[in-house]
Amino acid sequence: MICDMCGRENGIYRTIVESAQLNLCKDCSRFGRVTGTIRQQAAEKGIRQEEEQKKEVLEIVAEDFAEKIKRKREQLGLTQKDFAKKINEKESMVHKMETGSFTPPLNLARRLEKLLNLKLIESHEETHQKAKASLGSFTIGDFIKIKK
Ligand SMILES: [Zn+2]
Repeated sequence: MICDMCGRENGIYRTIVESAQLNLCKDCSRFGRVTGTIRQQAAEKGIRQEEEQKKEVLEIVAEDFAEKIKRKREQLGLTQKDFAKKINEKESMVHKMETGSFTPPLNLARRLEKLLNLKLIESHEETHQKAKASLGSFTIGDFIKIKK
């Protein structure tokens, strides 16, 4: 923001000078009637918040983890028992994962990724913009109903 009168970059005051609205620095604002200050901070803060939103990444275990684990075990030619030993888990756990009745928590999924050279975790970027878009399913009609 630059002062409309002297061109200096300073704290800017929205000022009425002879019925014209100007953005002036503190010194020049003395010549008119100050109606408000312009805060550049607010805009900067807005940008920072947007960046934070973009960083929000959600990690989830892939939906087809059961199939991936089973396929990998079969590729390795291992029984569920031997496979369980390899990943240092119980045989019953391997069975449950392969049937999809047990979803491995992220830390286990990460370990399996490393041990088996598998891709089990999917990253989803969550932004507030996307959240807003999901509200797009509301039609104008819905909105009118709510207002009533
Ligand atoms: Zn000035």
